[in-house]
Amino acid sequence: MPARRTRKPTSTKARGAAEPLAFVALDLETTGLSHSQDEIIEIGAVLSSDGGKQETFRTFVHTDKKIPLPVKRLTGISEADLEGAPGLEEAVRQFNEFAGDKPVVLHNAAFDLEFLEARWQPPAEVWDTLDLSRAAFPGLRSHGLEYLARLFGFHPGRSHRALEDAAATADLFRLACAALGRRGEDVLRVLLAAAPGHYRGLLEALAEGGRHGRAGETGFQVDGAALENAMRVGRKRAAYPARPKPVESMAEVFGPGGTLSQVMGPEFERRLEQEEIADRIGKALEDDLFLTVEAGTGVGKSLAYLAPAAVWARRNRERVVVSTYTRNLQEQLYYKDIPLAEAALGPFRAALLKGRGNYLCWRKWRESVQYPDLLLSGRERAEAMILAVWAESTQSGDVSEHGGFNTGRAPGLWAKLSAESATCQGGRCQHYRRCFLFRARKAAQEAELVVVNHSLLFTDLVSQNRILPEHQRLIFDEAHNLEQVATDYLGLSLNRWEVHNFLQGLYSRKAGESGLLAKLGAWLKSHRHGGAAAKDWQSQLLELGESVLECGKLSDRLFLSKWRQKAGPREKIRFRPGDNLQAELQEAAGGLVESLLLLSDRLRLLTEWMSQAEGLDRIEQEAFVDQLRLGGQQAAGISDTLARLVSADARDHVHWVEFREQGLILASGPLEVGKVIARQLHPNLKTLVYASATLSVDGRFDYFLERSGLALADRDRVQHLLLKSPFDYGSQAGLAVVNFLPSPRDKDFNEQVSRLIEDMLQKTRTGTLVLFTSFDLLHRCYWRLVKAGVPALAQGIDGNPAQLLETARRSKDSIVLGTSSFWEGVDLPGQALELLVITKLPFSVPTEPLVEARCQAIEQAGGSAFHRYLLPEAVIRLRQGFGRLIRNKTDRGLAVLCDPRAATSDYGQVFLRSLPVMPTAVCQNQEQLWQAMEFLQHDGT
Ligand code: SF4
Repeated sequence: MPARRTRKPTSTKARGAAEPLAFVALDLETTGLSHSQDEIIEIGAVLSSDGGKQETFRTFVHTDKKIPLPVKRLTGISEADLEGAPGLEEAVRQFNEFAGDKPVVLHNAAFDLEFLEARWQPPAEVWDTLDLSRAAFPGLRSHGLEYLARLFGFHPGRSHRALEDAAATADLFRLACAALGRRGEDVLRVLLAAAPGHYRGLLEALAEGGRHGRAGETGFQVDGAALENAMRVGRKRAAYPARPKPVESMAEVFGPGGTLSQVMGPEFERRLEQEEIADRIGKALEDDLFLTVEAGTGVGKSLAYLAPAAVWARRNRERVVVSTYTRNLQEQLYYKDIPLAEAALGPFRAALLKGRGNYLCWRKWRESVQYPDLLLSGRERAEAMILAVWAESTQSGDVSEHGGFNTGRAPGLWAKLSAESATCQGGRCQHYRRCFLFRARKAAQEAELVVVNHSLLFTDLVSQNRILPEHQRLIFDEAHNLEQVATDYLGLSLNRWEVHNFLQGLYSRKAGESGLLAKLGAWLKSHRHGGAAAKDWQSQLLELGESVLECGKLSDRLFLSKWRQKAGPREKIRFRPGDNLQAELQEAAGGLVESLLLLSDRLRLLTEWMSQAEGLDRIEQEAFVDQLRLGGQQAAGISDTLARLVSADARDHVHWVEFREQGLILASGPLEVGKVIARQLHPNLKTLVYASATLSVDGRFDYFLERSGLALADRDRVQHLLLKSPFDYGSQAGLAVVNFLPSPRDKDFNEQVSRLIEDMLQKTRTGTLVLFTSFDLLHRCYWRLVKAGVPALAQGIDGNPAQLLETARRSKDSIVLGTSSFWEGVDLPGQALELLVITKLPFSVPTEPLVEARCQAIEQAGGSAFHRYLLPEAVIRLRQGFGRLIRNKTDRGLAVLCDPRAATSDYGQVFLRSLPVMPTAVCQNQEQLWQAMEFLQHDGT
């Protein structure tokens, strides 16, 4: 173990706040990601001294541990490089000598610090460029070092090498500091208030730099447009010249020489399918119809529904709501397609509306930065710092504008800052006029066209506290996901982490007292709130603390105890009222249900006491009252959810328990979504349009009608439209069905399909996407490719879907392996995707509780679960997967379907007939497959 050396931080102020900051940017290369099992193999650093002079340091570090192949591939470092290199102790000594007592700058410091803490004294003052970049550049969605270095044009050479990455980190640090400095003193003051203590010196220096006129200096050349884009807060809507005279008929819009062609110029392409959709949607609005529209990729579906909806809404002064599944489409409609439609149609009022949880509560934000010590934990302050620049500049308050802040990664902080109803003061809020949520609602109330997403639509459907304005006309895009989304929002679930995080936020005795109650106690003491009142709050807090700890014990007992053994080989088990598992769960959960209710009551009493207490700072008092009220409602809500889940008595719902290493998950979902939609949505609507590229199976809509509840609607009101894609699939796409592998049910299938994929990818190097139905097979295939030296990127191993797709778009010949999230929504035009490999027909697992229950319900009603549910569901998923291949008129590509059931089974034909191209080859051996793959070598001319 190397000698530990304490490195005292130097005061940033002492170095001269208006001077360039002195620092050491550091990067480590390691044999893997585990700080306990892996070793450091390279250290690189760049020292930037006060005068801006740079010195560099690089050393390999000797280790006896073998360097895994993926690391060799990534870094180019081999065991031979480490021969003769100093051991860790000597390498650290040399680094310390080089770095002196300068603050250390790391990118994603948590990773390197874990390695440093395990091996030598971590630096005393650390600044993380990941935090700074997320704070300074809210307009960016990715903050990976390699991406940022390319974006800003300061990439110093090969990435994933310590010195080059340290140099990129140094440049990024200077750039992020300059960007923060440019925000001005007011924003820096808020940033300083929100940030955790170790950033204080740096931020004070930036503010001081601003006062000396040095704000925003980067000291090197960067791409100005990239920087401006990265610093932008909020998205810009596309801009077109205004059309003064409103257009009334669709013929004027889409026809030759029409207004759309005038706006789009040479990019305009007349599409008869688009005109037909617009026409039929116009009629559905006029005649109060329900319409299903299937239109293949490339039809221009969005404009085909936006145009008639906007014209109809404007003429009739009645609102039309458009709902999408993905946030991407929702934003594309609002920022890109609606401005284009306005330019072609003349002005109409459109608004984007999201659920309450998407908006920042301005009151809570201001209180949090006014009293950060009181209201935020240390970790929450780090995330609040990332929000600060955006929060102070945003016009919409919609947190999805901030590309570097993920509410899922900071659920505790976001619960404290979002505009959720439990703590909203509504009309009596002193910030009501600036409130983002109420501005968005007002805009929606005044709009003719409101763009929402399915989650808001379904949350509103079951909520007492609706935010969507009244509407009777609804267009539902990406409608093939209807059943899945409705299942998620009409169901319930609860796991240990939700309970644990809630309780920890209230009170914990781990490593001293922490949480809301501990802070409240300290605050009341600091206000010397004594006498008779002290007795009151002290005893209340004591009881509450004990209640929280008791709930924690009961929660662990329920979620972590013996249940795992009951799971056997299956991960999820269904339970019904009165069966053994339900009885056991109910008994085990009973204590927690009661204790949470008691906790809720006690929190309510304390809330009442706090709201009436006198002699306290009013704003701080209100902030505590809010949090106590929220805590009380959350405790009651969790108790209610748990009671409903374990009683399993919700009619028409399926209940199950899911076993995971981290504890069990209790869940329920609606058995028949269609009935709920027919009962709760249809009666309120005069027009309902379901649109998607994949609603039909074998040319028929029966499956969708049944699952969506349209089969229960008045038949005379329901119409259908099925239109093909304008792409020439015959010449643009090939489809090879592999008929020489065993059935996927055979134990050899996984081995043989992995080998075949390896052979295919050894033979052909082009942009490839391999779609899997399970992580098991994905992993097997990935490691086989890694061993063979085939450079594949796997979901969950090499990054999340967004990161992998970004790499694939850039590199053109990437091989991406993905599971369910890659089957739809992936858009990789051109060379980025020319070979699509589908490993299996995507059937649902029939033993999944919801699938099993839905199948049983169909069988009990005398139908065939396979033909009415499992088969059509899988066909639609396959069609979605296949749809990744051809994204525009110039794309060319080959799909290889590795599941022989497509060629050999009766139902295989249903799959094949539903695809836009029939098989160009059914391959009986590998040779025939290689011939089929020659399709990729033709230039298509
Ligand atoms: S009205 Fe409600 S959501 Fe809006 S700022 Fe006030 S408390 Fe927050």
